[in-house]
Amino acid sequence: MTFASLKLNKNLTRAVSELGFEKPSPIQAQAIPAVLEGKDVMAAAQTGTGKTAAFMLPLLQRLEDGKKPGNNQVRALILTPTRELADQINQNTEQYTKYTNHTHCVVYGGVSINPQMRRLTKGQDVLVATPGRLLDLFSKNAVSFKQLEVVVLDEADRMLDMGFIHDIRKILALLPAKRQSLLFSATFADKVKQLARTFVREPVEITISPKVTTATSVEQWIHPVDKKKKSALLAHLIKKENWFQLLVFVRTKHGANRLANSLSKKGIESLAIHGNKSQAARMKALAALKAGKIQVLVATDIAARGIDIEELPVVVNYDLPHVAEDYVHRIGRTGRAQAKGVAFSLVCADEFKELCAIERWIKKLLPRELVEGFVPTHKVPLSKLDTRPLQPKKPKKPRKPKANYEPRAKKGGNMSPRRANKPRAKPKTRS
Ligand code: ADP
Ligand code: MG
Repeated sequence: MTFASLKLNKNLTRAVSELGFEKPSPIQAQAIPAVLEGKDVMAAAQTGTGKTAAFMLPLLQRLEDGKKPGNNQVRALILTPTRELADQINQNTEQYTKYTNHTHCVVYGGVSINPQMRRLTKGQDVLVATPGRLLDLFSKNAVSFKQLEVVVLDEADRMLDMGFIHDIRKILALLPAKRQSLLFSATFADKVKQLARTFVREPVEITISPKVTTATSVEQWIHPVDKKKKSALLAHLIKKENWFQLLVFVRTKHGANRLANSLSKKGIESLAIHGNKSQAARMKALAALKAGKIQVLVATDIAARGIDIEELPVVVNYDLPHVAEDYVHRIGRTGRAQAKGVAFSLVCADEFKELCAIERWIKKLLPRELVEGFVPTHKVPLSKLDTRPLQPKKPKKPRKPKANYEPRAKKGGNMSPRRANKPRAKPKTRS
């Protein structure tokens, strides 16, 4: 499937292909045709699944026809809860409109209102706004909705969590009844459905759910595979599933560099972070991942601890950690804030011991999935759950660092010290 096969025109497909979007994500594949047809849509898909392009691309195409906006008019209004999200959507709009002549701008509170009023005087095709500032601008007659064709509530669940319901209702009351309404959210919590009832009409409903739903917020599984096939398997899975924000854990610095290079060579833009990289370099790499400039961030445990990574859709254990507890830390990088995350591990025969230790720590066996073409010749034995209680850990003897392995702790720095000498806490169970 391509963006063109969804009937997006050249101006738009050219811009997204320059951004490195090779094919539509699942939410885009379903939402784009519905929006192009002019239908109302309510869609739920976890963070990082490409919801912005799912509404923005078809919306821009629809705006290519019809009258340009008059003074102070806007034709498409995107409501979003925070200034950061508003900025991000506006930047995405800038990228998507590289070959079109749409006008767009962003407004939010906490900054001077006058420049925003000036930008609105000639009207805009697309206005991205936070609710409070939009109402301020309306009360100053800086914006009018007579020409409004489409309204989008982005991150609807978060807007409700943040208490924007009254502002949203006020804004909706100002919009023409004849309009297209789109609601995007990470979840369809009851309160979101309730809001939707008054907002969308005969909507196309789209829910993108992770493959299997479990009681936990992170779906976990393993792919048994031969050690030397791991890199090829990872590249295969990324392409097949069209994942585009992956945090991949490896054990060594050297392994991190090697994997990032090998993925990049296969057209999957990747960066490595590890203990030898500065804090600034790590943060830059994370920002690149979040901005979609790279697809994969390869990290060692220590490097990941130094930066604030949350709500990534996919975490991969390319190597299993030596310390079972680190497994829980690693997969805790996904599936936060109600969004479901996936965490899978590539496990080779050599790692059977680590696998058993992890399964004992999390008190369950990890489901296994063999991938065609990657069935290991060195079988990973079937594990049995070890239900003996975990003993408090004995203080560790100092050991010589192995070449290439991450140092166990760093002087200074902003990483938390290892737990080596503390008695082990009760194992956490994710339920
Ligand atoms: P969401 O709103 O669902 O959390 P975003 O719309 O912010 O997700 O997209 C997350 C990231 O994925 C962005 O960096 C975006 O550029 C990138 N992205 C979106 N669609 C695609 C695609 N089809 N192919 C590759 N990357 C994509
Ligand atoms: Mg979003």
